[in-house]
Amino acid sequence: MPSAPAGLPVPPLPENKVDLLARLTEGLDAPGLWWLSGYAAGLAARPGARPAVAADVAASARLSIVYGSQTGNARRLAEQLARQAEGAGLAVRLLRADSYPLRELKDERLLYIVISTQGDGDPPDDARGLVEHLRGKRAPALKQLKFAVLGLGDSSYPQFNATGRQLDQRLAELGGQRLFERGEADLDIETVATPWLERAFETAKEQLKSAAPLASVTPLRPGAAVASPWSREKPWAAELLANQRLTGRGSRKDVRHIELSLEGSGLSYQPGDALGVWPQNPPALVDAVLSELGLDATADVSVGDQRLPLRTWLGEKREITRLARPFLQRHAERAHSAELARLLQPDQAESLARVLSSQQLLDLLQAYPAAWSPEELVAALRPLAPRLYSIASAQATVGPEAHLTVDHVAYDAPGGRRWGAASHFLSARAEGEHLPVFIESNDRFRLPKDHTRDIVMIGPGTGVAPFRGFLQERIASGASGRNWLLFGNPHARHDFLYQVEWQQALKAGQLHRLDLAFSRDTPAGGPQGDVRAAAGDAHKVYVQQRLREQGRELHAWLENGAHVYVCGDATRMARDVEAALLEVVARHGGHDADAAKDYLGHLQQQGRYARDVY
Ligand code: NAP
Repeated sequence: MPSAPAGLPVPPLPENKVDLLARLTEGLDAPGLWWLSGYAAGLAARPGARPAVAADVAASARLSIVYGSQTGNARRLAEQLARQAEGAGLAVRLLRADSYPLRELKDERLLYIVISTQGDGDPPDDARGLVEHLRGKRAPALKQLKFAVLGLGDSSYPQFNATGRQLDQRLAELGGQRLFERGEADLDIETVATPWLERAFETAKEQLKSAAPLASVTPLRPGAAVASPWSREKPWAAELLANQRLTGRGSRKDVRHIELSLEGSGLSYQPGDALGVWPQNPPALVDAVLSELGLDATADVSVGDQRLPLRTWLGEKREITRLARPFLQRHAERAHSAELARLLQPDQAESLARVLSSQQLLDLLQAYPAAWSPEELVAALRPLAPRLYSIASAQATVGPEAHLTVDHVAYDAPGGRRWGAASHFLSARAEGEHLPVFIESNDRFRLPKDHTRDIVMIGPGTGVAPFRGFLQERIASGASGRNWLLFGNPHARHDFLYQVEWQQALKAGQLHRLDLAFSRDTPAGGPQGDVRAAAGDAHKVYVQQRLREQGRELHAWLENGAHVYVCGDATRMARDVEAALLEVVARHGGHDADAAKDYLGHLQQQGRYARDVY
């Protein structure tokens, strides 16, 4: 135990730091000491600062909360639980899954895991190592462990909450004692998460009641990357400064460049972070739902102590552009539809996933009419959730602004026009209007601290968004490492997002390589001589083809310490890009498939292969 200066409580510092502290503070006057204390507090509050943990508390007296999070929701909930436990004087440590010391697992006594599931049942990137370790033969026996798992997922995917389920089952197989049932949160996260967290907190208090409460607990770092009063629960009303179409007239896409003001909010972000937007549903869609059901828009509906007109519930408080399984189930009963009932059978998971991802509430109501009262409808629909957009700017360049790259989802369904909630909300706003936003930090998607490192940015479609911020930051900070961008979209002529900016940066020697994959260009149509005619997917050119073509060069960059980033579609693109990366590593590094996997896994552990995909 470190020795404390006489008369003071034992500080949570190693011995050599206590000595350093004594030397540092010796002879300082009051202003000097105050400055030092403020400096240290500032460091503790910085994003990425190690959370305070009761590291020296015996495992038997401590709660460990481990989270795996792709978009920040699992992290937010884990932080909430840790703060609550800490506030009650429990010894708690909060760890992102990739910083969990695996060798400590066998000694763990009380463990909560909060973890999301991606796309086809994959763990979030930061939990890949932990999940593999637990699945593997080297996983230890966990005879003294008591645990509980909260999974986060999206029930429109067949593998709903697969990661949470697997971990929950595996911890039990290894000998752990499940304290209470696994929580499986859907997109309306809080419905399941809030009671699970409450139970977790009460159970932890019960389990640790014989352990001495901590005499003093250093505060855990705050959840947001910012010292600002604005948060997910209390969003900032950001003024819209610009809303410009990026795609040409001939494009089948309507991609917008959106600029929002953070002036006066105190909000700040780093390249790689996301902006959360609380949308409102398209008024035309709300009207269509009301008319389809023959309901009165002004009917007052109460939920808890909130009493609002039905139109407000549907416009601002409930999801009507995304369908969920529980609603479909209730609607099937009301509509007495054998077809819908069949869709809900376990062997129909794929078909159900297709319906849930392609149909909206209105499609369902039109195809399978049924009566709903205002109260029942509001109770059955999920609460509206905010949408996250990767920020497409760096504050070093744009100051108190956040830029976004938004694909406006709008299409004609058999029953009329349909829109995506947030992308339509953003695209339909005019300059001067205000929108509720917050910052969602993403510590896993960061530029290298070492400015001499090269970076490779792979971002097809709107996945290019964060890389505009990355490049702005690299230019502003005078980073000497090279920057390589791989971008793809259907047509060079209409869909080359931020074309002028990339080309100017290329000319100025700030962007060192730009590789393009315009998937639907004919050889004569695009700027590159080697693009092949689009004649079905087999002939399309995607970014991963460029990766393979440039394999030798890419491998040389990796061997030289480059960081690789992937942003965009998680289900197909990110998977195919990973396969191409593995191939390049195997081919040019002389590895077999397993060694290539280890190589990439190692890069990921080092934070040199990071993905922002969903
Ligand atoms: P997209 O549909 O992903 O298409 C972009 C380009 O990628 C097109 O040329 C497309 O070709 C091609 N592509 C299709 N399948 C591919 C595959 N398997 N591998 C590689 N390339 C493939 O672009 P988007 O509509 O702009 O969507 C981007 C995705 O990124 C969305 O899923 C979005 O949720 C996600 N995302 C966006 C942000 C953001 O901040 N905006 C951040 C993170 C993730 P074809 O269409 O010709 O087949």
